[in-house]
Amino acid sequence: MKLLLGTLYLLGILVSEELGYDGSLAQHRREVVEETVSQRRGLDAYSYTRYHPMEEIYQWMIQISEKYAEVVTQHFLGMTYETRPMYYLKISQPSNNPKKIIWMDCGIHAREWIAPAFCQWFVKEILQNYKDDSRIKKLLRNLDFYVLPVLNIDGYIYTWTTDRLWRKSRSSHNNGTCFGTDLNRNFNVSWCSIGASRNCQDITFCGTGPVSEPETKAVSSFIESKKDNIVCFLTMHSFGQLILTPYGYTKNKSSNHEELIQVGQKAANALKEKHGTNYRVGSSADILYATSGSSRDWARDIGIPFSYTFELRDNGTYGFVLPEAQIQATCEESMAAMLSVLDDVYEKYWGVDSAGKAASSAVVLGLLFSFMSLL
Ligand SMILES: [Zn+2]
Repeated sequence: MKLLLGTLYLLGILVSEELGYDGSLAQHRREVVEETVSQRRGLDAYSYTRYHPMEEIYQWMIQISEKYAEVVTQHFLGMTYETRPMYYLKISQPSNNPKKIIWMDCGIHAREWIAPAFCQWFVKEILQNYKDDSRIKKLLRNLDFYVLPVLNIDGYIYTWTTDRLWRKSRSSHNNGTCFGTDLNRNFNVSWCSIGASRNCQDITFCGTGPVSEPETKAVSSFIESKKDNIVCFLTMHSFGQLILTPYGYTKNKSSNHEELIQVGQKAANALKEKHGTNYRVGSSADILYATSGSSRDWARDIGIPFSYTFELRDNGTYGFVLPEAQIQATCEESMAAMLSVLDDVYEKYWGVDSAGKAASSAVVLGLLFSFMSLL
């Protein structure tokens, strides 16, 4: 047998040498093997306490959906202005249960690097713990998580190659004389009415019309198509240590404002318990500044009940250039806040209370019908 294999092997070498491609083929095979090995090692060695360039985040998305294939899938969302693919990760425990959706996006503003770092941390935490942690296990029974780690990919790459403090997308305007739309002023909600600029030179340039940018188009049409099932819309930014509720375009309050504040405040308390960091909670117009065309306000106005902007660390000491040494603590405390929000959302729809309420209203209805039949 050994002899036979040896002969076949030799024959193979001879044949391929004769064909003249043995060297390159073997080399190619070696490279493929090495690549696969380093990719596997890659995910184990992936550092969640460092910032990563876009290429590494693309790789990470592939690796994470291979390693946790039973719960994660990677999906195409659309193309950026510079024709790069946008992908989101869907974390979903297979079941026949009809489930609700939690949306989370990070990096709509290019320079806010801690946001994509948090999206990756969030995904890692869910995946590493969903089997053993009863809290996460419970959430996944009724909720699917859709996570877009970097929304503004062109801008993010630009902050790595050219200008660390770039904020906007990279679309070209005025015959290529100025660049970038503030994607968080480009959603179709009171577009460009306040806290946004029509001048392309400005950092809050609202674009040439509502949803004029491919990135906002991709997110809007996806969210729109799923809006009946999305219960919570979370969009991650930095900095300022704030949990912002709708609205930015008006001082008026959304119909469930009190509830949003209550859930937000509880999340801020959970966050503070981790490392003592203080967050403030309130509507954007009340505690930050007026903004129009933001994704948070748009999401609330198309009917998504829970909609929040998180402004992560810090308070301005390092601002957008938060040191890597603070990634871990920032992500740990933000994770505590996220889980607090998710617990509250879960309780509202599937908690003992809501089941109790449903049961008691059924009893009341039953009594009412039996009473009516006596009349
Ligand atoms: Zn931002």
